[in-house]
Amino acid sequence: MSISILWIGAHPDDELFVAPWLARLQTTAGAKLSFLIATRGEHGDCRLPGSDGRDLGALREAEMHDAAAAFGGDVHFLGWRDGVASQPNAVLRIWAADAGGKKNLRDQLRAAIGRFAPDWIVTFDRRHGCTWHADHRALGALVQSLALPIPVTLAESRVNFSRPLHIEPGVPEAVCLSVSGTWDYLVRDMASHPSQFDAGTLDLFRNAAPEQRVVWLLHIPAWRRWHYLRDNAVAAARRVKSFVRDRVLPRG
Ligand SMILES: [Zn+2]
Repeated sequence: MSISILWIGAHPDDELFVAPWLARLQTTAGAKLSFLIATRGEHGDCRLPGSDGRDLGALREAEMHDAAAAFGGDVHFLGWRDGVASQPNAVLRIWAADAGGKKNLRDQLRAAIGRFAPDWIVTFDRRHGCTWHADHRALGALVQSLALPIPVTLAESRVNFSRPLHIEPGVPEAVCLSVSGTWDYLVRDMASHPSQFDAGTLDLFRNAAPEQRVVWLLHIPAWRRWHYLRDNAVAAARRVKSFVRDRVLPRG
């Protein structure tokens, strides 16, 4: 049985931060990849010529379908609004208001994750979101807050997107993985998003120096996550209480 890995991103194209690593898990371990994307990216820039008046959300949604298909994966969009605020907390507030409350927002995300039944989740680190984008950081915080009993790996690559290409870790404890064997998958993934990356940017990545062909990651087992600990401590306390009530205390 192969392992099922779910990337949870804020926008179509965010998977680029882990694409060569996902490709490696797929090609060497037979992992099944899926993609859950919070927004349609309708608020982003468009690099295609003559794109005025085009429905960027629909275009980027189609691009994400192409990107997922290149990995043989399914994609699902949550349909949350893109670029609503410049701070993660404000983004979460607006997403929650749109969903009819914080609980509804979390339920939407939990249900969407459940549909893929992943063994492993990969998403943004709320501390920097790879690019400091508020949507990335808000989504990373929200995924972590669900306290799912599934290991989570955080994307830690901070990419400069200029010549010479340079990729640094987002946090000091991140681990570096050389992905030169599957680097081409990254270039192919970016080529699936022509509204976001022009030929020059593709060249920049295609010609990356061998030592820059890396992905930075931070693996967090379920038991190390604060929300998971807290929620399970509450559940454990309840179990102890009912055990004492039913088995220990004398009856009748
Ligand atoms: Zn993004």
